[in-house]
Amino acid sequence: MQTGSYLDGSWYQPSSDKTIKNLNPADTSDVIAEFPAATAADVERAIKGASEAFESWRKVPAPERARVFWRAAEIARGRVDELGEILCREEGKVLAEAKGEIRKGISVLEYYAGAGFRLEGRTIPAEGRNVFTYTIKRPLGVVGLITPWNFPWAIPVWKAAPALIAGNTCVFKPSELTPATATAMVEIFAEAGLPKGCLQMLVGYGEDVGQAIVDHPAVKAVSFTGSNAVGFHVNTCAAKRGAKVTCELGGKNAIIALADADVDAVVGAVMNGAFGSTGQRCTATSRLLVHESIAGQITERLVEGAKALKIGPGLDESSEMGPVVDGVQHKSVLEYLELGQSEAKCLTGGGKPAGLDQGYFVQPTVFADVSPDARIFQEEIFGPAISIATIKDLDEGLRFANSVRYGLTSSIYTQDVYDALRFVEEVETGMVHVNEPTVGGEAQLPFGGIKDTGIGAKEMSTDGIDFFCEEKTVFVNFDKSTARNFNR
Ligand code: NAD
Repeated sequence: MQTGSYLDGSWYQPSSDKTIKNLNPADTSDVIAEFPAATAADVERAIKGASEAFESWRKVPAPERARVFWRAAEIARGRVDELGEILCREEGKVLAEAKGEIRKGISVLEYYAGAGFRLEGRTIPAEGRNVFTYTIKRPLGVVGLITPWNFPWAIPVWKAAPALIAGNTCVFKPSELTPATATAMVEIFAEAGLPKGCLQMLVGYGEDVGQAIVDHPAVKAVSFTGSNAVGFHVNTCAAKRGAKVTCELGGKNAIIALADADVDAVVGAVMNGAFGSTGQRCTATSRLLVHESIAGQITERLVEGAKALKIGPGLDESSEMGPVVDGVQHKSVLEYLELGQSEAKCLTGGGKPAGLDQGYFVQPTVFADVSPDARIFQEEIFGPAISIATIKDLDEGLRFANSVRYGLTSSIYTQDVYDALRFVEEVETGMVHVNEPTVGGEAQLPFGGIKDTGIGAKEMSTDGIDFFCEEKTVFVNFDKSTARNFNR
């Protein structure tokens, strides 16, 4: 299949001594594509084309821009099965999850198509008489979008759609591990009628292409999702030259289950949150802080559940958990699972499953008696592992939950409205759930973290558009007979 870079309305072959080999993580002998990596020099060309395209795209009325997104949503809806397979084959999550991600991206396209009809400013009364004051939103220009591999469709869609609907043009660098899904997105936008140059895609390595985008003076804003190490660096580089930046980074999300929690619901939420997408969601549940009175039964059921999970290639519809994305991630997750065995009690899992050596598989793992100081409690593993600690009450649960550097999402299971609302108030995360899993986001709701997880604006919703706009405040005097009072 066609993968690689896309510039000025055509597929583009960079001249480079580095190549990108796109592998199926469930079977590394399955080479999906191999092509030359884009370079920093290509960024210059991409920005030139995007700058030219900006001059006409920004003048297209927003409702007309919106129709591109309606069409893109329709095209994607007709291709859900195929897109799901592409995603599954290169990223590893199981087919049902991959198709779910495609559908999520379609909702995002629909939301931003609607938003094109509502790019509203604000009308605010002036202090002076006969002065009309209001605000208008205008696009920034060329913006940079840099995305990770774990949601290779949804995240590029939720960055590109608000940027484009607001009238910006984009230089987009997907993760080098998942270029095929990114290619499909670019292809769909082109088929939907997005003019050439509006969405320039360069598939290359972060230190070359990503860094060149972040440092380029013509790139007015950088929207980044990825690891904390890279995100903090990206933030510093972009902010140093005065560009707008938003970074959505790692998570270490906790569920608190109080004594009155619905045990079945907690078990279901942890199974989904910890092992779904092989634990490679930024919103994954990686810590369970459970009241000592129900810890035994919940732990037992999680161990049973983890043991029963069918691990295998995502393309096999009977698989319930696929591989991790690549060799680097595999090594890192296995190291954490080994570390966990010295830091806590490993009740199941802890290594590679037998008989699946053709891919990057790991076992779903349950750690109990985890101390809040343990590294497996504090650091993002980004694999299928749950660390369980017991708590005496909500105060202790909140103390443990808030003890980490991350602040993406959290959840509480309780029947008590007082405890639920105190948790909502005091937990240090950008998204908070009550009696539901930590995972998930919706197009119309702000998405993002606080503390070390989130730098700058949240994504999706109107926040997603506002990040890609500048707002002008307008003062119009409409009284010819009086001199303006400039001292007000
Ligand atoms: P990563 O930081 O390694 O890479 C992210 C992107 O940055 C890739 O496209 C990469 O090529 C690029 N990059 C690398 N070096 C760069 C540089 N110097 N300049 C510019 N770009 C550079 O992250 P990853 O491994 O792809 O993704 C996993 C991480 O993403 C996890 O920590 C996960 O929690 C996080 N994540 C967060 C959210 C969120 O919304 N908070 C969502 C998904 C993933």
